[in-house]
Amino acid sequence: MFRYMIANFALLTAFLFLFNQLFRRYLKDGPRSLRIRLLIGAMHGVCALLLLLFSFRVNETAVIDFRHIIVICSAYFGGFPASLVTALFVVIGRVSFFGGLTPSATTASVTIILVGIGSGLIMQYVGQYWRRWLLSLLLSMTLITIMSLLVWGINVDMTLYLTLIGSGGLLSAALIAFFSTSNRLAQELENSENRYRSLHTLQEAIFQSAVGTAITVCDSEGRITHINKAAEKMFGYQADELVGRETPLIFTDPKEVSAYAEELSRIKGKPFSESDVFVYCAMEEPSEGREWSHIRKDGSRLTVLLTVSQLVLDGEPIGFIGTATDITERKKMEETLHQLSLLDGLTEIANRRYFDETLMKEWKRAERSDKPCELSLILFDIDCFKAYNDVYGHLVGDDCLRKVAALAKGIVGRPSDTVARYGGEEFVVILPETNVIGALRIAEKLRFAIERESTPHVGSTVSAVVTISVGVATLQPNGSFLPERLIAEADRALYYSKANGRNRVTDYHTMVKKNADEYRSS
Ligand code: GH3
Ligand code: MG
Ligand code: MG
Repeated sequence: MFRYMIANFALLTAFLFLFNQLFRRYLKDGPRSLRIRLLIGAMHGVCALLLLLFSFRVNETAVIDFRHIIVICSAYFGGFPASLVTALFVVIGRVSFFGGLTPSATTASVTIILVGIGSGLIMQYVGQYWRRWLLSLLLSMTLITIMSLLVWGINVDMTLYLTLIGSGGLLSAALIAFFSTSNRLAQELENSENRYRSLHTLQEAIFQSAVGTAITVCDSEGRITHINKAAEKMFGYQADELVGRETPLIFTDPKEVSAYAEELSRIKGKPFSESDVFVYCAMEEPSEGREWSHIRKDGSRLTVLLTVSQLVLDGEPIGFIGTATDITERKKMEETLHQLSLLDGLTEIANRRYFDETLMKEWKRAERSDKPCELSLILFDIDCFKAYNDVYGHLVGDDCLRKVAALAKGIVGRPSDTVARYGGEEFVVILPETNVIGALRIAEKLRFAIERESTPHVGSTVSAVVTISVGVATLQPNGSFLPERLIAEADRALYYSKANGRNRVTDYHTMVKKNADEYRSS
């Protein structure tokens, strides 16, 4: 008898395992169609028929097996329709395998149909898992007991039968709970794998479709692990030429990186290596980004705005991600705009702003110089220009200003010299490392060239042509005075030229000396 019982247990376990594996897709939470429910009922029905084959007789008409349990299982998975179908399978099996429609078979059939209906309803309407199972088992055991009493009277010992049904039922409930949990876990794993896969696909799409943004990923040792298409295009390398190599020193200008490393060492008071620089950028300025010169594979240069961020997985740093945007064109544009902002619109020579910046730069340079370094300034102004405008009109006046500017630019030849429009019809020339003799020579050359140009000027009180008055000043910047003093002295000298007949050159020191002489002789 036990052999049969063990076979029933084994069959039930094997069936539940196979059913949970094969039907996993249909066993997810949510409504099941009637077709699926009927199919579930039929499958359990087939198992019930197999169980019937391993049943054993307790007397000439009564047999014991786990058919009631399989009906409850069917009710659990497929509800009322499924359990009814399974019960019908059992009825057919009972009648066909065990001697036709005997009173015992009729009782057994009625019992199983009632178990099917009852457990189907319980599984459908009772919420809690174990409560459903216990109620269904209790119902089955009660029905079996009542029917047995009706058929065999009170002298039949039902203890063994009920014990087997109870333990088989609990085992099935535990197995199903276990299989559902493992199914759920497998499903969750599958879902998370799918999510991961779609996230990965999405990331890959973003990574590759970031047009114009070069993305380089490296491990914590700085070796490149991924680069996107934009990076290949921007730097002229193929991904396989770069993966495994150390970044960012492949693209960067070594001089620029070591200059920043030195600067950081100085500021922070501790040594910084070239690669430390980028770790510092990732840790200290991750969102701001920094401008770097990068070098392409073909040696050409570009300026990028590079943002470096640390990659952290579960709290552990696993590498860095660098995002570079090519800003070469923007830089060029900014440079052009800067240049334009320093040009005088009318004469296209340097404007007053450029003059101020350059004078300050040259002044500081002279101050820093080890050897004595004189700085000269020439300030010149067109004579009687108001009258010129009055006679020839403002537009011709503008032409005259342009002509004077071009002439001055042609004469002042050294690249370090600067000719600028100081304002109105006044111009200025900065002559670095030039003493007063050199400055006076250039000033006279200027005055002469403009006079020789012979631009008619009938309104002038000093000549028939356009002339200029010039003031020259020379100083040796040494920290004890400001560049404004040089301008003031050149201006005083220019005023002296104006006051003493115009169309002439005066240098400040000669003027001071002459004034002193005049003062003494008067
Ligand atoms: P001085 O010999 O003492 O320098 O006499 P001036 O007439 O040249 O000097 P003043 O400062 O009285 O006049 C300067 C004139 O320069 C007045 C102004 O209309 C003219 N001017 C200034 N800027 C421009 C300009 O951009 N275009 C033209 N056409 N004229 C200008
Ligand atoms: Mg003037
Ligand atoms: Mg003037």
